[in-house]
Amino acid sequence: MTDGVDRDASDRDGGDAAEDDPALAAVVEKPRAEDAIAALDAEGVYDDSRKVRERDAETVELPVVERPTETAVRDVVEQVAPEPRLPDLEARLRARGWSEDEVARAPGSWAVVGTVILVEFGDCQRREAVGEALLELHGEADTVLARGGISGEHREPDVTVVAGEGDTETVHVEHGTEYALDFAEVMFSPGNKRERARMGEVVADGERVLDMFAGIGYFTLPMARAGAEVTAVERNPAAFRFLVENAVLNGVQDRVDAYRADCRDVAASAERVVMGYYGVAEPRSEGHGRRSREAHEYLDAALAALEPGGVVHFHAATPEDRLWDRPVGRLREAASERGREVEVLDRRRVKSHSEGVWHVVVDARVA
Ligand code: SAM
Repeated sequence: MTDGVDRDASDRDGGDAAEDDPALAAVVEKPRAEDAIAALDAEGVYDDSRKVRERDAETVELPVVERPTETAVRDVVEQVAPEPRLPDLEARLRARGWSEDEVARAPGSWAVVGTVILVEFGDCQRREAVGEALLELHGEADTVLARGGISGEHREPDVTVVAGEGDTETVHVEHGTEYALDFAEVMFSPGNKRERARMGEVVADGERVLDMFAGIGYFTLPMARAGAEVTAVERNPAAFRFLVENAVLNGVQDRVDAYRADCRDVAASAERVVMGYYGVAEPRSEGHGRRSREAHEYLDAALAALEPGGVVHFHAATPEDRLWDRPVGRLREAASERGREVEVLDRRRVKSHSEGVWHVVVDARVA
């Protein structure tokens, strides 16, 4: 008996804790909940048979089968009357008397971003009820938003509050990077999670980077946290405000030089250039929708800033049947206009953009 818990009970690893075992929970700050759940799960102590429970305005209780030793938590407490967790959304909707047909129309996926749950409802009509059930499922969240599109050059989101407190502002923690944002003003793409982490992995300490379409700091923050010196450009006033705030929030304000400007008007010299933008969709004419002001139209400005031997990360939205000749061809063409050679280092699919179209990134060294 160390902390009142009998450690050798055989069902400790993953099975439901034996009846008389105290129901332990790790206390963490709400914005860290998703990250902490993943870490506790990786550590093998997360108990997903019980509900995450709000502890107070700042913190939540994450059920654990034993005191975590690797994951940083504020405290470990014993829960009185722990609540069993219905495994998923469908189980909750059935428990609310939904018909199988209605359950079939319910959203199959959603994203928890800080204290906000983002949902694409498709043809599901009972949004509010789904929102309530999702808030039960994710005790760390307090607002459910229906995702509409993202439009215009400033990538402004169209979201609607469907349940909860309706607070569209949140702080999202991802791989240790903190992103403050307001979903009513700026976009956040859950599907770019891996790419955001990757940008923090590819940079070297002290490396000089230009992030041409910085937004709230999606790529800038992980790169600066990894030691890079980032020139970050963002034209949208709301996104720029969060960019500056997030640099301070992550303690990297000394390594982020932020400009509220058109990236073509910022003179920079960089060893790495990030072009995280694939333009604006124009109304469909035929076949795939036409896009305008795509990243390739900014390649000249990117190559002007990129030092010989530097690396560019060129994002694009590309139909499956144009992979990889179109994005690579555009990069080669822009470089050859400047008498420069391109060595393709990597070609990656970041996420599905729309039917038959992929959000991709080409990594290339330009001599
Ligand atoms: N790469 C980000 C991610 O991973 O989620 C997405 C950034 S968002 C799609 C593109 C950002 O570029 C928007 O915040 C938009 O305001 C900004 N932007 C668009 N055109 C710009 C320009 N010419 N100069 C500077 N910023 C621009």
